[in-house]
Amino acid sequence: MRQGDKKQISIKWKLFLYFLLFTAVTLAAIWIFQTFLADRIYKSVKTKEIVVTANKLAESFDYEDFAEIINNTASEKQLCIVAFMVGKNDMYQVASSDVLKNCVIHRISLLNKMKLYYSAKENDGEDLQRFRFDQRSNVFYSVSGELFSKDSSIDGDESVIYTVVRETDDGYDAVLMINSVISPMGSTVKAVNMQLICISGILVLLSLVLALIISSGIAKPIITMSKKAKQLADGKYNVDFGTKGYLEISELGETLNQTEKELAATDAMRKDLIANISHDLRTPLTMINGYAEIMRDIPGENNAENVQVIIDESKRLTTLINDVLDVTRLENGAEKIKISEFDITESVGEMLDRYNALIKNEGFTIVFEHEKNIIVKQDESKLLKVIYNLVNNAVTYAGEDKTVRVVQSESLGKVKFSVYDNGDGIEAEKLRFIWDRYYKVDKEHKRASVGSGLGLSIVRTVMDMLKGSYGVLSTVGAGSCFWIEFDREYTETVEN
Ligand code: ADP
Repeated sequence: MRQGDKKQISIKWKLFLYFLLFTAVTLAAIWIFQTFLADRIYKSVKTKEIVVTANKLAESFDYEDFAEIINNTASEKQLCIVAFMVGKNDMYQVASSDVLKNCVIHRISLLNKMKLYYSAKENDGEDLQRFRFDQRSNVFYSVSGELFSKDSSIDGDESVIYTVVRETDDGYDAVLMINSVISPMGSTVKAVNMQLICISGILVLLSLVLALIISSGIAKPIITMSKKAKQLADGKYNVDFGTKGYLEISELGETLNQTEKELAATDAMRKDLIANISHDLRTPLTMINGYAEIMRDIPGENNAENVQVIIDESKRLTTLINDVLDVTRLENGAEKIKISEFDITESVGEMLDRYNALIKNEGFTIVFEHEKNIIVKQDESKLLKVIYNLVNNAVTYAGEDKTVRVVQSESLGKVKFSVYDNGDGIEAEKLRFIWDRYYKVDKEHKRASVGSGLGLSIVRTVMDMLKGSYGVLSTVGAGSCFWIEFDREYTETVEN
């Protein structure tokens, strides 16, 4: 429980941290932009605007309302403007508008004004100078050139003076000087900074909210699933893991539902298996125990007949345990395929001879029909085990004539063994179950007590392993024919 809670918190806070990191990086980028670049961009935009305005105003020198235009432009754009005419021997002012507090052009001497004028004249009629105003000493310092310069590293507002000179028809030079502060104004900077602080706050809050929403979408179903998985671990196989939510979570839900189904099936099979094995083990053990006690306690009962019962029952136990071991080894993959080249006709013949010798006292006959000896490249011990199981069943369920026929045939690289008996046969509807583990059609059959109910399931597993086929044809009252078919040469197919 505690672990689950820890996980939820961890996802939530981790997401929040990631969002916070994202926000921090974004804000840092904005702040860096604001601190290092915004100032330069502002200055360049402002300077361009001044150049454009000055050039436009220079076109209107002749207008009657020139002074008014200058005044309006100056107050509208927060500029200081001076316009004057310079002749060969005289100069006079045409218009002037003093809007800025620390205006340069209204404070510098005529000499300095002339310096700017000559500088513009030499430079194709245009000149741009930058200054800083030191409030303490009330002095302007040139930033870019020699003009008004004094060596200083003061950090006052930066302003520009743009000078335009146009020659007029009557031999005068029309001069227009515009002065403007190009450093961003303190209030603008403050407003932007305030905005940034607000945005930072909103982004941090947003990260928290988003982290909560996303984490509840991811962490909650995971925690629910984890709780349900614990129920599953406790053996409750009716838990629904749910298949809603994010794609990955719903896929996980589906997988867990599937796992649950498979676990339930395996568990049912395990219970079934234990029930079957314990039942099958208990019966012969009870018999052995019972007979042994009778022989010990009752004097006349210590005879060969009773000893035979004990022998039969221990044989049954051995068969059962061997079959269980075979099935287990086959199914858990411990039993590997061992291919060798051998004469299968000879091997089956020898096995049947040995079997015949064992049961001939009981009046059984096994007939082996084969046209020729066939050499195969196959797993000898597994195929003999399968054929033995089929023959053993045929003997067990043989009819009154007590005859079993084993027929070998071959066609198109495949070898087939069919085992015939003239017994009772199997009802059609039960045929599909006989290959299942522990399935017995008739538990009361006189010889059926010998079987483990595993013989045919071993046949099925082995034939699947060797990529062969198997089947049965059976008629109630007439007998059965169990057959297996496999390649003469076993070839391993490479699976993709
Ligand atoms: P068992 O050890 O009981 O023979 P098997 O798996 O070999 O187990 O067979 C499963 C069931 O199929 C048997 O219990 C029997 O009812 C039926 N069966 C198998 N072979 C034959 C046969 N030749 N004739 C009739 N019934 C058969």
